[in-house]
Amino acid sequence: MITPHQPTLSVLRHRDELKVHTGRLFIDGQWLEGHGMPWTHSHPATNEQVGVLTTATKAQVDAAVRAARRAFDGHWPHWKARDRKRLLQRIAQLVEANGAELDQMQTLDNGMPISFSSTYQAGHQIAADIFDYHAGWVDRIAGQTLPTFTGGDAVVMTLREPVGVVAAIIPWNAPLMLSAQKVAPALAAGCTVVLKPSEYASFTVIRFAEILAEAGVPPGVFNLVLGPGDGTGEALVEHPAVDKISFTGSRGTGRYVMRAAADGIKRVSLELGGKSPNIVFPDVDLDATSGAVMGMVSMGLSGQGCACHTRALVHESIYDEMVDKCALMAQLCVLGDPFDPATTSGPLINPQQLERVTGFIHSGQSQGARLVIGGDRPGGELAIGNFVNPTLFADVDNSMTIAREEIFGPVLAMIPFTDEDDAVRIANDTSYGLGASVQTSDVKRALRVARRVRAGTFGVNGYTVVPNAPFGGYKTSGLGREGGQEGIDAFLETKTVIISTGDSRH
Ligand code: NAD
Repeated sequence: MITPHQPTLSVLRHRDELKVHTGRLFIDGQWLEGHGMPWTHSHPATNEQVGVLTTATKAQVDAAVRAARRAFDGHWPHWKARDRKRLLQRIAQLVEANGAELDQMQTLDNGMPISFSSTYQAGHQIAADIFDYHAGWVDRIAGQTLPTFTGGDAVVMTLREPVGVVAAIIPWNAPLMLSAQKVAPALAAGCTVVLKPSEYASFTVIRFAEILAEAGVPPGVFNLVLGPGDGTGEALVEHPAVDKISFTGSRGTGRYVMRAAADGIKRVSLELGGKSPNIVFPDVDLDATSGAVMGMVSMGLSGQGCACHTRALVHESIYDEMVDKCALMAQLCVLGDPFDPATTSGPLINPQQLERVTGFIHSGQSQGARLVIGGDRPGGELAIGNFVNPTLFADVDNSMTIAREEIFGPVLAMIPFTDEDDAVRIANDTSYGLGASVQTSDVKRALRVARRVRAGTFGVNGYTVVPNAPFGGYKTSGLGREGGQEGIDAFLETKTVIISTGDSRH
């Protein structure tokens, strides 16, 4: 077994940056103290308390939904497209202008290394672009005129109208980008929103709410409630005046949300987890590919991304070489103080997740997978945080728990395959279907595999999420899409209007 990189960075060096922040609710254009149980936030790298949230009671969630209802039943859906478009553009500009601070807030919230939080994909720039992109939709939301089916004097047309009050619930791993993915299309469509961030990453979203207020979002159109899922979240999801729930989070919570939506026949969109395959054919540059394959799981959020490709399916002819190269890549990861630009890999979000990931590592060992590197925790100063060393399992069978469950930690399961059919069979042998990738220089093979693998996003030699393309899951990875036209459609209803132009009445 190769010994992992020994971290030497002090996570405590930036203690001053972990200053205490206080979170408040934003309801009907007012900042309010929450009257629920306060929530103390501990930083994942140190488990030091870094902030206190005042959480919303059921009555305060009710007040937020009622404010959103009033704004929806009032002026907001009838705003001029020009004004709504400018408002979204202003939000984009303010997110950009406050970008460095927002990126740091994410690092403060969830321990995402600043080296990752300041990338396009994870940081403020994609959030700004999401608002900019949806600003472009505002004056393009349009219905159709249809031919009269049976003849006669009539005009048949469809109107596209906002779905109503949206309950938007997001997880902790990308609070800024995920807030934007819900709020931007909802506002563009003319909906009003009550947003609940994760109790493990609320500070970025509080700052984001301040930006929306500064941009001039009218009272009640955007509301923020804070608190845990089983109090604040349930009160929001179950509220009868909510028309649509847009949820991003784990599959388990997604099931609950869908059942709760059924009671009120609420519209529901779900962005859930994944167990994405990365299929590696022999015709690639193994150095670059091993960096991408292992790096996706071990760097940045340390595998805590929904679309992290945590199953590497590697052709048998290059399998041993890929194992060695991925192990070397794991050694290059620098765990440490997330505020240090040299740190590549962050901690797990909380001690419960640390225990869960450690349990999966033990299951891999007990079920016979070969632990090549990692599997343990760094010592020294990092021992106080929720760090796990980048972990590579080889000789994994796709039936093992580590190949089936979403681990949400820096654990890569490497599985050999014999040929293209075998690779596709293993890739599809999962209940998830969020992302998938193929690594090859053969474009015909890439397209064949892309068509056969059942996943919402497919990468050929890697991919990045972009605002103008739909993102979402096949199978149990979700329902609906965010981004692109489908992302805006998710916040719209269709009304058919039939206008009789003849003399007869029906
Ligand atoms: P989670 O399901 O525990 O929590 C997500 C959100 O739901 C949080 O705000 C939480 O407070 C809230 N919540 C929890 N229980 C609730 C309840 N009973 N009623 C209402 N709200 C409730 O997920 P998490 O641990 O925060 O996030 C990790 C998960 O999110 C992973 O499974 C990951 O794959 C998924 N995720 C998916 C995407 C995507 O786009 N598909 C993106 C990011 C994360």
